[in-house]
This record gives sequence, C-alpha cells and structure tokens, in this order.
Amino acid sequence: MIKLEQINRVFRTSEVETTALHNIDLHVEQGDFLAIMGPSGCGKSTLLSILGMLDSPTSGTYRFADQAIERYSEQQLAELRKRQLGFIFQSFNLIDDLTVAQNVELPLIYQKVAKKQRQEQVQAMLTRVNLAHRAGHLPQQLSGGQQQRVAIARALVCNPSLILADEPTGNLDSQNGEEVMQLLQQLNRDGTTIVMVTHSEQDALYGNKTVRLLDGEIISHERPAAQHSMPEAAYA
Ligand code: ADP
Ligand code: MG
Repeated sequence: MIKLEQINRVFRTSEVETTALHNIDLHVEQGDFLAIMGPSGCGKSTLLSILGMLDSPTSGTYRFADQAIERYSEQQLAELRKRQLGFIFQSFNLIDDLTVAQNVELPLIYQKVAKKQRQEQVQAMLTRVNLAHRAGHLPQQLSGGQQQRVAIARALVCNPSLILADEPTGNLDSQNGEEVMQLLQQLNRDGTTIVMVTHSEQDALYGNKTVRLLDGEIISHERPAAQHSMPEAAYA
C-alpha cells in the first residue's frame, strides 16, 4: 500500500538546518497496524505528516497504492487525502459546539454526500464505535475515551483505506486509553490499515509491526510477539 524509499526531510531556517528524517525506507502493507516509536524530537510527527501527504519530503520517493505521489499537484493530493486517509490526533480536535453526530457528519458534508445518506452513514459509524446513544451530546459531556471514539468515527466515516494516528491515547488515562486501543484493534481486524505514533510500549503491542526512530533514522523494525487479545464487550 505504501512504499517510502530513501526519504529525507530537512528543515532550513536562515540560521539552522535540521535533518528531521534521514534515508527512511518503510513499507506499509494493506491490513498492517504499524506503531512508530522513539523519543521526543526523533521525527515521528514529521514522518506521519509525510505519510499523510500534509508535508513533502526534501528527497526520496513515496508510493501510495503504486502511484508516485511526488508528481501529484496540491489539488490531486488534497483529493487523495480526502478519499483515502483518516486522521486521529492526541487532542481529539472535535468541534465543541457541534453534537457528536454533527462532528462525525462534517467530512461527509465536505464530500457533498446527500443528507439522507449522511444520516445513515453517521448512524452506522456511531453504532460501530458504540456511541449511538450519545449522538445528541456535546463533546464536553463525554469522557476522554468517548471523545476519542467520536474522533475515530469522524476519521472513518468516509471509509478511508488508511488511518494515521498521532499519539491517540496521549491525553487519556489508562482505562480510556485501553478502550481506544481496543477499538482501533477491532477496526484493524475489520480491514482498516493503521499507522500510529505512540510513546506507549503497551499500545504498540496492539499492532503487528513496530518501527523505532532515533535522530531521524529507523533503528529497528520489529514484529511484536505478544499481541493483545480482544476481550468481549471491551468498551461501552
Ligand atoms: P517527534 O514527533 O518525534 O517529537 P518531530 O517530527 O516533531 O519529532 O520533529 C523532528 C525534528 O524536526 C525536531 O528536531 C524538530 O525540532 C524539527 N522540526 C519539526 N518540524 C519543524 C519545522 N516546521 N521547522 C523546523 N524544524 C522542525
Ligand atoms: Mg510529535
């Protein structure tokens, strides 16, 4: 699905030059759940931005579904992002004065989906993240774990082929974090490919691959042996 070859990203200001990523080679296969780990400042968010087509590498090639996206215009990239990618952030990024259902509906409005179909898709998505009973609530009325599940529903409602998550449990206590990880695991088992930046060794075990970054370089590729099992009715 994704092939990065010899990706470099250099940030230049008048005074300093920072090599945020150095000769990154990375393959993501369809169905993968990849965890990206490493200390603060090692390039994790830069890598995720490049994977998400929000930033371009200084050099190297990025193939998405066998297309070399360097050749794409801004508009073509935006289109690809809208159709294929879903984003999840540490801070949820929900709109406070829209209801749960309205937050999840937003990407469908941008995609000009008809109203009746929007309502059906929102309902189906909220059922899938087990929040149909909270459709009319405001984000502030929900727990952190529930808010992140709304954000996940919003990321998934346009049926993306890839979810990119930057520390999705970073603002959650361990119980809420686990609930979010179990949901991501379920979505991955249902077929969504996931790339997740995390600081948590525990969270990385939900994935099938881990890469570790240090000073902008990949220092290891691993396949965690111990995968979490799915308890029944993991979240409510
Ligand atoms: P991480 O997410 O692993 O904490 P980042 O990808 O945010 O790391 O940053 C990697 C390096 O690149 C850091 O040294 C950071 O200061 C630098 N960097 C990131 N974004 C920019 C930018 N827009 N301009 C200049 N330097 C940046
Ligand atoms: Mg970061």
